[in-house]
Amino acid sequence: MSTSSNGPLSNSNARLAAELTAVTRMLETLNILSYSGHIAARIPGHDALMIQRRSDSRAELAPERMVVVDFNGKVLEGDGKPPSETSIHIEAFRARPDVMASLHSHMELAIAFTMMEDVQILPMRARATRWKSGIPTHPDPSHIKYPEQGRELAATLGPHHVALMRAHGLLLVAESVPALFIDAVHFEENAQAQMQVLQAGSKPRPLSDEEMDKILKLEDRPHHISKLWNYYIRKGVATGSVEASWNLLEA
Ligand SMILES: [Zn+2]
Repeated sequence: MSTSSNGPLSNSNARLAAELTAVTRMLETLNILSYSGHIAARIPGHDALMIQRRSDSRAELAPERMVVVDFNGKVLEGDGKPPSETSIHIEAFRARPDVMASLHSHMELAIAFTMMEDVQILPMRARATRWKSGIPTHPDPSHIKYPEQGRELAATLGPHHVALMRAHGLLLVAESVPALFIDAVHFEENAQAQMQVLQAGSKPRPLSDEEMDKILKLEDRPHHISKLWNYYIRKGVATGSVEASWNLLEA
């Protein structure tokens, strides 16, 4: 990278830092992130990513506290250590050039589904078409500490947009940080819908492939992302989890 080591985050990365901060704080208010879990953004054109510091609270992040690390885990910019499970993001980015942002969450609902003997998360709600290709479950419940474990998780993810991690959480990937946020919201909504059906004692009736094809034909993903982004950023500014000075409503 052409940026200076251990200096302040460069201007070109300032927007990404603001997006990462806002999305982390918003996911924390939605209980999708809590005392652990994190999101990462690929630095375009570099084998590097931006992520929060290991010790920073998800509820109190600030853009200037982000770090940039290369794909060997070396800190290139910022001061402080990345999270211990950063290999999750590094190996997902390495394996999937199309992925620009990733979320590792210990989402309670996702974990619950990995602990059921005979139930998988199914595409229930209309926005679950995002996971039409499948939702694999990584069998290893361990904390992901080493690159080899990250590579195994990336192999489980394969070409899909999400992988559950048995008794641990999930890895969700998308083409941008705003898209990642919206997908996380919809993933949780879908799991919640299925859980409500199960708790009502009923048998889930998921979307069929034909129904999903029909929905996808009419879907305008960029418009939908922008609509929800606008809603949540404005709500975040109004409730204090997002700062207006981050200018996140500007294109
Ligand atoms: Zn974890």
